[in-house]
Formats: sequence, C-alpha cells, structure tokens
Amino acid sequence: MVLGQLGGSITRALQQMSNATIIDEKVVSECLNEISRALLQADVQFKMVRDMQANIKRIVNPDDLAAGHNKRRIMQKAVFDELCRILDPGKPSYTPKKGKTSIIMFVGLQGSGKTTTCTKYAHYHQKKGWKPALVCADTFRAGAFDQLKQNATKAKIPFYGSYMESDPVKIAAEGVERFKQENCDLIIVDTSGRHKQEAALFEEMRQVSEATKPDLVIFVMDSSIGQAAFDQAQAFKQSVSVGAVIVTKMDGHAKGGGALSAVAATKSPVIFIGTGEHMHEFEVFDVKPFVSRLLG
Ligand code: GDP
Repeated sequence: MVLGQLGGSITRALQQMSNATIIDEKVVSECLNEISRALLQADVQFKMVRDMQANIKRIVNPDDLAAGHNKRRIMQKAVFDELCRILDPGKPSYTPKKGKTSIIMFVGLQGSGKTTTCTKYAHYHQKKGWKPALVCADTFRAGAFDQLKQNATKAKIPFYGSYMESDPVKIAAEGVERFKQENCDLIIVDTSGRHKQEAALFEEMRQVSEATKPDLVIFVMDSSIGQAAFDQAQAFKQSVSVGAVIVTKMDGHAKGGGALSAVAATKSPVIFIGTGEHMHEFEVFDVKPFVSRLLG
C-alpha cells in the first residue's frame, strides 16, 4: 500500500458506514475493523492498531453518529486525531543552536540511508548559515568513508575519517575534537550499521556515544521495513539514548505506518523525512500534513 492508498481504504469503510440506515454499535465496529485492516496493511504495528481501535470506540458515541449528519466526518476526525496523537510523543527533540557546538550522532541499520541522511542534514543547515562538519565513524562497511567523503566534498562540508584506523570509537572522538577546535557548530557523527540487529553493533554504538557525548542521537529508519520498525527502533533506543527519528525513502513505495512505530518505540519525534537520493530531497517533518497525506 503506497502512502495515500490508506486514505482510499478508510474512505470506503466510512462510505459503507454512512450508507447504513441504522448506525448502531455493530455498524461502528465493522467500520473500525475495516479501518484497522487498512492501517495494518500500511504497516502500523498490530498493538498500536488495537489500541487505536479501542480509543476511537471510546471517543465516538454511536448516538452522535445516529443523530448527526456528518457521520463520516466524525469518524474521519477521530482517526486523524488518533494518528496525530501517536506521532506526537509530547516533547520536542533537542534543538541545536547556531553558533553553539552541538554533536549529533546518527544510528541505524546498514542500508537505512544513514550516510546519505547525514549529508542531507548537514547541507540543510549549511544553507541556513550553519558551520557543519561530518565525521565518518563507520569502519565496518568497506567504502563508507569514500561515500561520505564524496558526498561531503560535493556539498563543500569539512569531513574527517581514516582508511587505516579500524577503531570507530577512536575516529569518532578524534573527529569531534578536531571540529570542536575549528568552531564548527554542528558536528555530525556517522556510525556503522549491520544488516541485522546484532549485539556487536549495539555495543559499538554505546561506546561511540560514550566517547563523543552527543547532544542528540538520531535514529535513521528505512520506511519500507514494515512491521519490523517497532522492534528495530526499540533495540537502538535500548543501547543509546535516541532523541529523534528520520524516516528515509518516503518516495516510491513508502508506507507510512513505520513512522508511527518508530515514534512509539523511541518516544521521540520524527524530525525530517528523506524523499529521494539527492541532497535536497529532504523535508522537515510536520505531523498534520503527514497524516493528511497518509489518509489521502
Ligand atoms: P547507510 O548504509 O545506512 O549509510 O545507507 P546509505 O546512505 O548508503 O543509503 C543506502 C541507499 O539508499 C543508497 O543507494 C541511497 O542513495 C539510498 N537512499 C538514502 N535515502 C534515500 C531516500 O530518502 N530515498 C531514496 N529513494 N533512496 C535513498
């Protein structure tokens, strides 16, 4: 289900409910079941769907639906509000301040789009007059430093890394120190990933975090991982203190549900989304427009 198709399924469920001559609890339940199926297909985690269903049932009174003319709108608003509530963890993430050094550590599985997103994040701030710098602490994936170097050079952003050193903790600490001395105000540390959630990866993240003392840890997640999103986000949160989420690959065949899981698992807001491979394909995340798009 592509982002927006969810809206079609929900609209159909609401239409069926509106067409019923009598709106009783059974009709409302059927409509909610239909909506829940659509949410599951859009990769919203099972438990979250179940909770949402219970919440909506509590909010929406069948008597109001029976009396009112805007049955569809009442239900639609309840679904919209619930999705917005899930996507808003209630507290904003750490916000870096221009001119004051902030250390931002990126974590995520290999292929999630971490390296690309680091450069996008740096470029976004550079355009606004910041002085960002990139540190490549990924010594696991061959070619990671070259990729970061290439991206950084293209965007004219200073970078630090090594072809020789194999200790990511050492590189991270050295890079952060170097750019602190150069008065960079946004020091971005790209870390390594693995294909799977492994103990070694989480231990490495813990050590890099300990050595660099980041002001913010951003969890980068590929939007196409589906139902796996919740466990993956939670696993990272348990090893480092994730404070924000960036969801990548929201272009193409993206399903929106994973974003909800990532917020719920990390109790942190989504701050940006990646919408393509290029540097400028990066958007500030805003809850209401996202939910509107999700619902089509
Ligand atoms: P890493 O292993 O987590 O550092 O991932 P990379 O940054 O190397 O990205 C893996 C692949 O995903 C690359 O081919 C990127 O060009 C691609 N990619 C990253 N972000 C996006 C995005 O928002 N949209 C699309 N379509 N591709 C992306």
